[in-house]
Amino acid sequence: MIIFLKKGLPLSKEKEFRTFLAQRNVEVRPVEHEEQELLVVLGRCGELTRREIEKNASVEKTLDVDRPYRLASKSFRETPSVVSVKNGLKIGGKRIIIMAGPCSVETKEQIIETAKKVKDAGCQILRGGAFKPRTGPYDFQGLGKIGLHFLKEAGKRSGLAVITEILDVRDIELIDKYTDIFQVGTRNMQNYPLLRELGKVRKPVLLKRGMWATYKEFLLAAEYILLGGNKNVLLCERGIRTHVSETRFTLDLNIVPYLKHETHLPVIVDPSHGTGRANLVRAMSRAAIAAGADGLLIEAHVDPRKSLSDSDQAISIQELTKIVKEVQRVANAVDRS
Ligand code: PEP
Ligand code: MN
Repeated sequence: MIIFLKKGLPLSKEKEFRTFLAQRNVEVRPVEHEEQELLVVLGRCGELTRREIEKNASVEKTLDVDRPYRLASKSFRETPSVVSVKNGLKIGGKRIIIMAGPCSVETKEQIIETAKKVKDAGCQILRGGAFKPRTGPYDFQGLGKIGLHFLKEAGKRSGLAVITEILDVRDIELIDKYTDIFQVGTRNMQNYPLLRELGKVRKPVLLKRGMWATYKEFLLAAEYILLGGNKNVLLCERGIRTHVSETRFTLDLNIVPYLKHETHLPVIVDPSHGTGRANLVRAMSRAAIAAGADGLLIEAHVDPRKSLSDSDQAISIQELTKIVKEVQRVANAVDRS
């Protein structure tokens, strides 16, 4: 159950009400929500009935949510959430948003040239990793702070918003200075300390699905961020591990309509990691939008074969341009733009 406190309730009244709940063994977690304080009830209502809670003068209303991910669920919010990035750019509305760029920021020239081309191709957001979660410790680990600096510069020059991955909870403050969207990678989907801290920021967080994760585990991970009061969560399907060895991962498009049914949060699809193969990215981009995704996250490189990471899945700018055009037509067919 979720308790909506009356708008503008004085702090003293809220404290009084929470003491009353605690005395009756009702355990709650407070969450800030659109200028209103909510109390998410953990478990049952203790010794009180829903009626008794509702009758309290501090309470506006209560809401029963029959899902473990209460704030992420459609019962909490029926209408789709629209996440604002910056300069009027919104994700989750009628317009499909495409984020593209290299797996890793490699040099200043590379990311600046990419930004210009990604923009000319018709994309809205520039991606680029500076802290890379590589399988092997001897692989290129990203440029770190200087990479963030180059990415921001490329964003500024092109006018594109930027997204980059955060690996370590200790880097939140640093990355916050450089990015418009925090990306949480598949390997960190269940890094709860990181998710909790990202609940305290107000910038959007793109949460990638763990490559092993069930839909419920994915939504519960998003719930950690929402419970902190950050409602700007973007869910991203990026492929899961299956028995198929011909592709790097299996892009699970079932999840798109499933999430659209279960949650109000925007859904993004990453066909690059989802396939691991550059020649499959275009078809899966079209399919993702046809399935109802709100946007795409694509790895594109000015010289794909020279990518320092994930070169097999990197597409060229020409291919990206084709994708944007084709996605436009699919978007129109499903009443999006
Ligand atoms: C990436 O976007 O480059 C990345 C590392 O993604 P994932 O976490 O999905 O592997
Ligand atoms: Mn990558």
